[in-house]
Amino acid sequence: MLRPLLLALLDSLVLVAAGCILGRLPALAGRDLGPVLAWSPALLGPLALLVWTSREIGGEPAGGIRRRVVTALLALASWPALVLMLDLDLQRKRVVLVGLAAALYLVVGAPLVRRCVRAAGGGNRPSILLAAILVIAGGVLWIRPMSSSRGPGGELQGAGWNVLLVTIDTTRVDILGCYGQAWDTSPRMDALAREGVLFEQAIAQAPHTHSSIASLLTSTYPAEHRSLRDLHRLEDFNVTFAELLSDAGYTTAAFLDNPWLTRELGFDQGYQTFVERAETDEILSWLRANHSTPFLLHVHLLHPHAPFESVQPWAANFQPDYPSDAPWQTVVPIEVLWDSKLRADVDMQRYGVERDVAMDRFRALYASEVRRMDQQVGELLDGLADLGLAEDTIVVVVADHGEEFLDHGSLGHSHSLYDELVHVPLIVRFPKSFDLAGRRVSEQAELNDVVPTLLEALGLPVSTPLRGGSWLPHLRGSGPAPPSSETAVSQLYRIQGRHIFSLRTPGMKLISTVAPLGRDRFDDWSLDGFTDETLIWGNRHQLFNLIQDPGETHDRSTDEPAIFRELSGRLAEWSKKVESNP
Ligand SMILES: [Zn+2]
Repeated sequence: MLRPLLLALLDSLVLVAAGCILGRLPALAGRDLGPVLAWSPALLGPLALLVWTSREIGGEPAGGIRRRVVTALLALASWPALVLMLDLDLQRKRVVLVGLAAALYLVVGAPLVRRCVRAAGGGNRPSILLAAILVIAGGVLWIRPMSSSRGPGGELQGAGWNVLLVTIDTTRVDILGCYGQAWDTSPRMDALAREGVLFEQAIAQAPHTHSSIASLLTSTYPAEHRSLRDLHRLEDFNVTFAELLSDAGYTTAAFLDNPWLTRELGFDQGYQTFVERAETDEILSWLRANHSTPFLLHVHLLHPHAPFESVQPWAANFQPDYPSDAPWQTVVPIEVLWDSKLRADVDMQRYGVERDVAMDRFRALYASEVRRMDQQVGELLDGLADLGLAEDTIVVVVADHGEEFLDHGSLGHSHSLYDELVHVPLIVRFPKSFDLAGRRVSEQAELNDVVPTLLEALGLPVSTPLRGGSWLPHLRGSGPAPPSSETAVSQLYRIQGRHIFSLRTPGMKLISTVAPLGRDRFDDWSLDGFTDETLIWGNRHQLFNLIQDPGETHDRSTDEPAIFRELSGRLAEWSKKVESNP
């Protein structure tokens, strides 16, 4: 009696241990075997027990230890081989596995049924029924856990796609090749755009990092998430995308390289792993160790941000007479950049630099930074592909804001709401089965739309109020574009004692600068009483025709009073809507 029990235990242990070891290995031959191997213990352990039980019941010899080990290893090796042969995405692999497990169970369970029937004394119906119920119940108990894998947050919900969210800092839309830049600044992101969906008119909700990223992660406006400026935390009342995914059973991690995206400022909400500053190697080793269950990996790349240090080897490509041995500090004094923030008409001659020369060099340096960042994006994509995860992962690349190069008299960012700061790149690569490769969305979108779109793609319910909408119905031709295609709002809190709001429609843009209601009031962004009188009364408003004047240089607010009035009304409506959000 003892020997058969020990043998059974051995069967299970060998199978489970081998399954665990294999589950830790990188996926083979470019296919994602991670989740499959992670299920192996659940699949093969009970299988071994069943095989043993049925043999004993069937009265056949149990076999020696060596034979059992060989059988176990063969059974185990057949799983990766089988899945390798199937060119399927994660969901279909899961369906195949569950089907396979069910078939195996029935084959192995058949002797059990026979045995039960025999034990009950022949072919009487109640005993057949009882045996059938036992077999079905056992099958359900056994197969159910395999129909989803588990993350640290518990039972996995949804389709189980991984998400790689790459937020890139300070990237104006026209610096990338896929958005029309002639310089070779972004070969990897251009390739990603060809494989994914490129949003031509994506609008950030703020022109500086933490406010914009907070909107992206919560799908709410700055006025709602209240991470408005400097030391305003992303408070706990906010529900982040990472929290939603963690609750849905995902493994979540963030590697955020930006001094504003910190644990202290609340940006760690929902991330089981949170690292402030990390090299690509560290990120990839996290990925290698954690891809066996569906994951959200958020990486923030700071690099296009000033000071522009990533000069070599690229700057010479973008400015032929760029001195190849010049350290960046002496090429353009960085004080020019810091001093000129917020100040119109930068006086570069004060620094002994001709304005045109300085701007050419700035642009070459900036393009070099973007080229370096593109290389980092490429390393992440390569890491994903090397682990065989490319087909099972939704990849998002999106900038938090742009950068001004004297478009409106200043340098840098976080000082205005013109398009060079709020019109940003947004690329989403879906798995092949979505059939959306190479699509370009010409309609306007908000970064608020990213989370709702991802939740729908992941098959997860929207359990928290979101301002944005999903683009999937529009992309699939089964529904309308979300409201952002008609109205996109951005917000800049308290700059030089004023608040700035912009409301962008497909053709027009209103920028309104309003005085705060009270000096120290936290909620003084309110547009309450945003009427014609307050408009005329000491506030500054601009209206631009984005089609005739994409550079936003000619204010049309007095020439187009009807449009001005209509957009002002829509901004006031928006204000009431966000104020009503407790
Ligand atoms: Zn930023």
